[in-house]
Amino acid sequence: MIVPPGSTIGIVGGGQLGRMLSLAAAQLGYRTHIFDPHERPCAADVAAYHSQAAFDDLGALERFAGAVDVATYEFENLPVEPLGIVGDKLRPGAKSLAIAQDRAREKQFIADSGARIAPWVAIASLADVEAAVDRLGVPLVLKTRRYGYDGKGQAWIRTPAEAASAWAAIGEEAAIAEAGVAFDAEFSVILARCADGAHAFWDSAENRHEDGILRRSTVPAGEAVLAQVAEARSFALAIAAALDHVGVLTVEFFASADGPVVNEIAPRVHNSGHWTIEGAQTSQFEQHVRAICGLPLGSPALIGRGAVMDNLIGEEVLDWQRFAAEPGLHVHLYGKGDPRPGRKMGHVTRVDA
Ligand code: AMP
Repeated sequence: MIVPPGSTIGIVGGGQLGRMLSLAAAQLGYRTHIFDPHERPCAADVAAYHSQAAFDDLGALERFAGAVDVATYEFENLPVEPLGIVGDKLRPGAKSLAIAQDRAREKQFIADSGARIAPWVAIASLADVEAAVDRLGVPLVLKTRRYGYDGKGQAWIRTPAEAASAWAAIGEEAAIAEAGVAFDAEFSVILARCADGAHAFWDSAENRHEDGILRRSTVPAGEAVLAQVAEARSFALAIAAALDHVGVLTVEFFASADGPVVNEIAPRVHNSGHWTIEGAQTSQFEQHVRAICGLPLGSPALIGRGAVMDNLIGEEVLDWQRFAAEPGLHVHLYGKGDPRPGRKMGHVTRVDA
């Protein structure tokens, strides 16, 4: 299915990823239609249309499906069943969404696809947590099966005595327990895949997190990561093929002594790929539009020698005048209003030309 320029791309979710997707879509002559329950999501500022409705509002979803030529999503904590109304127009499909939003299904799926993951077990009770500590040892991390992002819904168990407090800390919700991975670095493999299986990888960024939130992505990554990228790409491609994924897929990895270990997947463009806007021949946002619309993929090659992307989190964005004054700095402000602690408000990219 080719969706020609001039068509309308529906985007479920109206955050900064939807905003940057809309900007890339506009460059290729598409209009976007944002579906988001908020009154004025930041993506709607740069989109042609906005449906303000709950993600499970079937009537609104039906009208949205009728108004767009193809649809995609920009975050994964969405109810899957109502989106069935969008049918074949949804790219990537509902499978990628359903797997990525449930950590237990995700782990199992990744392992089944042949990729390396940390030892894990599903958790439904304190007794399960205690059994996991016995079986997997410490350190161990509990992660809620659903609605986790930016390190939320996670608690570490560093000694067996912490089992009960960690279980309480995640709200006694269905979870997974995962062995702590001793890693040298964290990195991501981001790829775009077309319906016919054609695909392209960007250079892997080395990612530094603080308090569970991405702080900085650097390309090229360091030696410890570069030595593992080839195997990591083969894992990522196997996952994408098993999902029959169309569009951009992100796979986050730990570079460990045993080789690359998959942490998690995101069935979408990703914060660790923002550097591609100025640092690559084709950005992740444009590439996603190309893949879901059936256009040929663009080149993912680096422009120059590399790039460093820093997130502007919370009140860091208030320094916008300083960023604006730095020659050559690419400043991205998401127009989100209140700079609450931990909120991603913008990012800046330095390209090493
Ligand atoms: P996540 O939300 O799963 O991406 O986790 C957020 C961050 O917590 C990761 O980027 C890692 O820095 C850390 N983390 C998560 N799981 C593990 C693990 N099994 N071993 C070591 N660090 C982890």
